[in-house]
Amino acid sequence: HLDRIEQVEPAVHAFLHVSNDSALDQARAVDAARAAGEPARSPLAGVPLALKDILVQAGVPATAGSKILQGWIPPYDATVTRKLLDAGIVVLGKTNLDEFAMGSSTENSAYGPTHNPWDLTRIPGGSGGGSAAALAAFEAPLAIGTDTGGSIRQPAAVTGTVGAKPTYGGVSRYGVIALASSLDQVGPCARTVLDTALLHEVIAGHDPLDSTSLDVPVPSVVQAVRRGVTEGVAGLRVGVVRELGGEGYQPGVLESFTAAVAELEAAGAEVVEVSCPNFVHALAAYYLILPSECSSNLARFDAMRYGLRIDQDEQGQPLVSAESVMSATRGRGFGAEVKRRIILGTYALSAGYYDAYYGSAQKVRTLIRGDFDAAFDSARGVDVLVSPSSPTTAFKLGEKVDDPMAMYLNDLATIPGSLAGIPAMSVPSGIASDTGLPVGLQIMAPALGEERMYQVAAAFE
Ligand code: GLN
Repeated sequence: HLDRIEQVEPAVHAFLHVSNDSALDQARAVDAARAAGEPARSPLAGVPLALKDILVQAGVPATAGSKILQGWIPPYDATVTRKLLDAGIVVLGKTNLDEFAMGSSTENSAYGPTHNPWDLTRIPGGSGGGSAAALAAFEAPLAIGTDTGGSIRQPAAVTGTVGAKPTYGGVSRYGVIALASSLDQVGPCARTVLDTALLHEVIAGHDPLDSTSLDVPVPSVVQAVRRGVTEGVAGLRVGVVRELGGEGYQPGVLESFTAAVAELEAAGAEVVEVSCPNFVHALAAYYLILPSECSSNLARFDAMRYGLRIDQDEQGQPLVSAESVMSATRGRGFGAEVKRRIILGTYALSAGYYDAYYGSAQKVRTLIRGDFDAAFDSARGVDVLVSPSSPTTAFKLGEKVDDPMAMYLNDLATIPGSLAGIPAMSVPSGIASDTGLPVGLQIMAPALGEERMYQVAAAFE
């Protein structure tokens, strides 16, 4: 895999850092343990993985795609990183992302965009475009992503790979550079549903270091995948969300989605249409809640504690006050999208506007959760909901960069599940006939319903 990375990286740019030496050391340690007859530390021992550069690994540079963290070497491991290393998984390096995971194309990275291996002139999705491209370009068979509003699922969809966002609280956020704490979730990515499930079981589980971590058993998703393969979806009720399709969705995506639903029906699932009327407000609510939380989370980048520190003005004169150092550092260290969201968030949280914006958005969030509850819990509730993962296939690099609204619309299908904290995943559903590019099917399940979600995903795959 290191050879493959060297070969394709000049064209793909999925990685921000490749840990050649430590990866080889880890791989050799697994080999040595095997030679000594020790039992394998996990089913994935020795398998290489690409880590999104928003999770920290001790001694390895972490940037979150931002200039403001340039030069920062974290002194500790994220809980997920620790679990990977303890499982004998070989961490190849850190993957590219939109700055602080804000974006849908990886073009907001301060270190240049990642290219979609299917067509190098197109975006690999975002924010986790690096992880998804590393999988699609066969640079790694496993990857870790984070999903706040779709950053695992949309990149998976547009690169023809698999990615799962677990139930909120299912995987520890300790050591994950925070974007929006009430939404952020770490998840597994791979090229097959089984590999994704194997990785899911390695990273999930309660963590006392994360106050929002759920104290529940790790879901048996590998067994669920086996069940999906042997038993399929016969007898399961699959809901098609009326509001996630139609306007704003590319014809080739809808065609692939319709075929996927027909396939599930032919396999014995009962397909019903479900209306979730509040989903139409999800994007607006999300783009108030996320900026509010990120404006607070990003306050820690104060030029004193991490990475970049600008202490001279443009003429080379020393900046004398803490405020001027902070302002110069944040001014130069943050990119345009990050600044846009900090400004939006501080505005939405300010006295006099808080109730109108942040407060209303939280109410909408509750209504959206209510739509999911009604779909899943009513007497004749569905087992899973399905939709396209992304409204379009991979678009051209540069196409939407100057139009934030067009960029935000990429998250139409993924954001409702994020606001509700439910598990959701994207599996490849074929190639769009109009663009010849991959399409993803999104499968959503009730909170802690990972097993059902993986069963359907495996049966569909
Ligand atoms: N594209 C979305 C955004 O820009 C999702 C980001 C994410 O999930 N990290 O906020």
